[in-house]
Amino acid sequence: MLRTPANESVVLESYLGVFRYSRRAVELVWSTHRGLTISLAILTVTAGLLPAGVAYVGKLIVDAVVAQIAVVSAGGDAVYSTVLTWLLVEGALVAGLIGVQRGIGFCQALLRVLLSQRVNTMILEKALTLELAQFEDSEFYDKLNRARQEASSRPLSLVNRTFGLAQHGISLVSYGGLLLQFSPWAVLILVAAGLPAFAAETAFSGERFRVFRRRSPERRMLMYLEMVLAREDHAKEVKLFSLGRELMGRYRKIFGIICEEDRKLAIRRDSWGFGLALFGNLAFYGTYAWIAVSTIEGVISLGEMTMYLLVFKQGQASVSSMLTSIGGMYEDNLYLSNLYEYLEQDTPKLGGAVGVGPEPEAGLVFENVSFTYPGSSHPAVRGVNLHIRPGQSVAIVGLNGSGKTTLIKLMAGLYPPNSGRIFYQGTDLADWDPIALRNSIGVIFQDFNRYQLKVGENIGAGDVGHLWEDARWAEAATKGKASRFIDKLPERYHTQLGRWFNNGQELSGGEWQRIALARAFMRAGADILVLDEPTASMDAQTEAEIFDHFQSLTADKIAILISHRFSTVRRAELIVVMDEGEIIERGSHEDLVELQGLYARLFELQAQGYR
Ligand code: ADP
Repeated sequence: MLRTPANESVVLESYLGVFRYSRRAVELVWSTHRGLTISLAILTVTAGLLPAGVAYVGKLIVDAVVAQIAVVSAGGDAVYSTVLTWLLVEGALVAGLIGVQRGIGFCQALLRVLLSQRVNTMILEKALTLELAQFEDSEFYDKLNRARQEASSRPLSLVNRTFGLAQHGISLVSYGGLLLQFSPWAVLILVAAGLPAFAAETAFSGERFRVFRRRSPERRMLMYLEMVLAREDHAKEVKLFSLGRELMGRYRKIFGIICEEDRKLAIRRDSWGFGLALFGNLAFYGTYAWIAVSTIEGVISLGEMTMYLLVFKQGQASVSSMLTSIGGMYEDNLYLSNLYEYLEQDTPKLGGAVGVGPEPEAGLVFENVSFTYPGSSHPAVRGVNLHIRPGQSVAIVGLNGSGKTTLIKLMAGLYPPNSGRIFYQGTDLADWDPIALRNSIGVIFQDFNRYQLKVGENIGAGDVGHLWEDARWAEAATKGKASRFIDKLPERYHTQLGRWFNNGQELSGGEWQRIALARAFMRAGADILVLDEPTASMDAQTEAEIFDHFQSLTADKIAILISHRFSTVRRAELIVVMDEGEIIERGSHEDLVELQGLYARLFELQAQGYR
């Protein structure tokens, strides 16, 4: 009818697509709180059955009234007790229905809170188990973001809609049961009149579901543009470069495409919907007429007529409620499909169990290590052989993009190399217990995190085991040359940083770098310390002092520095020069100057600038 399916099972599957995640949503709710789920189920069934009861009692009331009218017109005395009893029963049933609906609302409210917390926790717990590479994958990022958005509302909404569907379905069946006494044909009409609209709504919802999923990249771009246009940290540059109009233009264009697709789908859906609803209406009113005629002919009583009309009208209302539920279910399904896709992706098997290497004096060894980022065409690190001993200070230099940071990420176990091996204390990184390995390595990257927390916590983050030790904060801050400006902050180490929270202080780039350095110095337990250009905003003298500090502090450890300043780099015992992912030169400053290679050229270039 609406599609040209290859075979029946595909049709059925695409029709039932809209219910795909209902079972999982119910399972999720069930495992969140059994008592509430059972209550919700019982209340839903009751809410489904009660309206038919009300309709039936309505018939008894009318029949009793008609009987008494007959008694009175025959000159007798009316007896009111039957009518009044049935009225009481109906009143009680309606009161019960109100109570049941309130109960459903109550269960839903409680479940919403519990579910929201449960789903958010599941999402974040999963995020903790994933690899860095997964976070850098745009599709993954999309999944994570979409799973997080609306985590609090969607699962419950799907459950509500599924239960609502069941409730109206039960009502419909019970109406059918009452109607059966009138004529099985009437039941057939009730079902047949609703069915086409029902099928159409299901099919179109399934289609919206698929269209929406297909548009993921466009929506990601929209989300990104919204962020660039509206977020405080982007606003400065967007204004200065007058990028606003251009970005708005792109935003509108993508929006236009999406809108157009939606419009077409909506037109098709609503025209079908209208046609089928007309058909349904025709059937309903035909049956009305039939019931009315049957009453006039005396085939059914006045009470029965009241009941059948009510049942038919409410049956119609139930069908339209079910259609609305199905219409909304596609969005809920979409959400749940994202959620489960995200939750069920493979968790990488992390490392082995080695906690202490057999040869601590062996330090760090790279053996022919190469690495290419997923999706990239050229390797970021190529055939690297390198041996760094404890106590050695190393500087890595090279042009932008030469692979310095990637080398550090490999060393920290953030990515496994594609080929070659990295040993630390005589054990392959792959065999290290990841937690033990991370405890042995402290790295501050150029794009270190600026936590919207207190100053002290920003420093303490370098060593979670001692996050709260004030004395250590101050000591680390002194080494990172941060204590002077921290002392001037309103609440010193307890000053809130960043703009997200009340009274948050924003720091300059250089001040943030000092905080990051203090974070590095906090990491006293680590055997390898790496500073990947976090000193770029500082003046050359401060950088050199910090590096000296760093070297003395790490006397029996491995200290690695990435910097573009040769005044600092020259102080390292071993200088490694990288170019296009390879190590092309290595040695002390003097060795390398003598070699007259890339290092000597870069050094000379910088030295000229100072002459
Ligand atoms: P450096 O630190 O020397 O400036 P990097 O190690 O950051 O260089 O980058 C080396 C190469 O790897 C560059 O060509 C860069 O484009 C690429 N690269 C860096 N990070 C990623 C990433 N997360 N995903 C894909 N490619 C990356």
